[in-house]
Amino acid sequence: MDKLVLAKEGVFPVVKDHKGNRLTDQPKTGIELPGTIQGEGKLAGVPSLFIRLSSCNLRCIWQMEDGSFCRCDTTYASFHPDHILEFSADEVFDWVSYNLGAIRHVVLTGGEPLLQKKPLAKLCQRLKEELGVHLTLESNGSLFDAEVAKWIDLFSISPKLSNSTPNAEKLAHYRLKEAGPYKFHEQKRLNLEALQAYIDLTQNGKKQLQFKFVAGKTDDYHEIQKDFLNQLHNWKSEDILLMPLGATREEIAKSSPLVLEMAIRHGWRFSPRVHIELFGSKSGV
Ligand code: SF4
Repeated sequence: MDKLVLAKEGVFPVVKDHKGNRLTDQPKTGIELPGTIQGEGKLAGVPSLFIRLSSCNLRCIWQMEDGSFCRCDTTYASFHPDHILEFSADEVFDWVSYNLGAIRHVVLTGGEPLLQKKPLAKLCQRLKEELGVHLTLESNGSLFDAEVAKWIDLFSISPKLSNSTPNAEKLAHYRLKEAGPYKFHEQKRLNLEALQAYIDLTQNGKKQLQFKFVAGKTDDYHEIQKDFLNQLHNWKSEDILLMPLGATREEIAKSSPLVLEMAIRHGWRFSPRVHIELFGSKSGV
């Protein structure tokens, strides 16, 4: 069976390793307990354990309203997935079990978790059948996999707008070359078929959905409406969330007023990014 490739935090925050041995380092939350809270979306504030999978098929770099640039807040899992951990689905399951405590929510995040759909499906099945936890899948929405989807309770999908595309100016700013995933970002970011599959799967109310659009420019509303929502059917207004662009407190403070106004004007939900407010932009929290 294929191994799961995890980013440097693996399962986090934890107090025990995948064999159940107590770790000497305190969790990065500063709390002597495993777990943190979900920082974004409908479940913001809910105690959760995270599993961060390595690698992404996209390379998001945004431009903010004031012209400054801002890129993916987990570059170590997407742009430079070099510091990795490899474990079988069973080992990751054990790692979660040793650290679950009173937590009932597990979040599968990345990177893009669906790049590892086969071992991921096995892990999700065990987490669901043996531990009965609530599973959230965080995905960029460019992929869909029915085997993984079977076990998921909340699809937290963050479709990427054209402002995320790494154009020549952005690449030059970060001294990056237009090759590999940078080159293919634009053609991969929008997969209407996958987005519709998520909507269809959540119609009977047994599974939940949120489309979390990262917004930071005045024009973003029109693109969300024209390129996404007008092309999809049966979506519910309550499942459309706007999240302020930014990887740091300062960047989020800059984009929040515009996004807040957009949310109120169009009746969409504003998603906070509580973990950044509480812990800053560090990883593993
Ligand atoms: S899709 Fe998400 S993980 Fe991938 S590059 Fe964009 S922001 Fe980063």
